[in-house]
Amino acid sequence: MGSDTDQRHGRRTLAVHAGESPDPHTGASAPNIVMSSTFVVDEPLGFSARSLAEDAPYVYSRWSNPTVAQLEEKLAALEQAEACRCFASGMAATSAVLFSLLRAGDRLLMSDANYPGTAELARNTLTRLGIEVATANFSDLNAVAQAATTDTRLLWGETPANPTTRIMDIAAVAGIAHQCGAVLAVDSTFASPVATRPILLGADYVIHSLTKYCCGHGDAMGGAVLASQEHIGAIESEGQIHIGGVISPFNAWLINRGLATLPLRMQAHQDNALAVAHYLEDHPRVGKVLYPGLVSHPHHQLAQRQMENYSGMVAFQVADGAELAARMMHELQVIHYAVSLGHHRSLIYWLGTDELMESTYQLTGEQLAAYREFAGDGLFRLSVGLEDPQDLCTDLGRVLDDG
Ligand SMILES: *Cc1c(COP(=O)(O)O)cnc(C)c1O
Repeated sequence: MGSDTDQRHGRRTLAVHAGESPDPHTGASAPNIVMSSTFVVDEPLGFSARSLAEDAPYVYSRWSNPTVAQLEEKLAALEQAEACRCFASGMAATSAVLFSLLRAGDRLLMSDANYPGTAELARNTLTRLGIEVATANFSDLNAVAQAATTDTRLLWGETPANPTTRIMDIAAVAGIAHQCGAVLAVDSTFASPVATRPILLGADYVIHSLTKYCCGHGDAMGGAVLASQEHIGAIESEGQIHIGGVISPFNAWLINRGLATLPLRMQAHQDNALAVAHYLEDHPRVGKVLYPGLVSHPHHQLAQRQMENYSGMVAFQVADGAELAARMMHELQVIHYAVSLGHHRSLIYWLGTDELMESTYQLTGEQLAAYREFAGDGLFRLSVGLEDPQDLCTDLGRVLDDG
């Protein structure tokens, strides 16, 4: 299906067909996997990333690969972005953006509680290269506006945020970024392209860990960066071709297959998450339950406005969470006690606040207080899968009701 016709089609059609067409040689309806790392050429071509024209033939799979290109075209159609480049993992996509955009002396303003890998990369690695890293609570627009000084080059936020499910107002933060001459990157992994399309709201870059909802089955790692054609140039020549964390065509093929059911899966994730969130809200042992689709979520109104689907990520507080986590590891029968999210299998993990502060966020004062408002002493992060919701509630109840 050609990209010029893409926006005439609905999202479910795009998820199935965008970027794909029957194989011209065999008529195969399902896409082939092109595993070849190199391609036979019939004219002399340059050997530099700079000589890569937009309509260049395939040369070498670190530059571009037909199977990866199919995935990129489908993701761009779903996000309504001009361009997409895929990577070996979400962190490879994140690194591609940070290292392509920032140079020594630049200032990065980042959300003060986001994916720990990103927070640690910024704090430990970027600062070592002479990049200034500042943080703010990206759900507090006054705090963002105050911290966004004119020497800021990039703002980096995440919504819903890991692990708190805090929501950031993308359009408002994009406005702040552009006013101070910076650009905004949004890690949209928790939302997926079904729940939120940040580029339509003014963001300049969207990052996905494809390992999560886009793949959806917990069997392939990948990452993506989406942006305008103008912004994607540096991501391609520096982030992809030179830093080189490209995705395997086999993983791209698996993720492309997973994307076909993304709209249907997100609907089911949302329905299940709402059922489980209500069950947890009514449970006497459970403290705060955080799900953007609950009326009680502090950012529910913003989520209603900004999200087309509330996704499947639920967080909740329980007293003595660490002890309960230890029991969950052995006593849960359906839900897996494991990191990651967005799979068809439900996954749960305990994130203790003190531990996370020490290892990763190092928040103090108002920022720590704002974090604790959501997370208390710690949160169970529950990625609600596609099982029968009643079985998930029974599984949680088995541990919660006992002791
Ligand atoms: C998992 C995750 C990442 C990192 O992705 P990988 O594929 O594990 O490298 C980045 N951001 C968010 C929000 C994530 O959940």
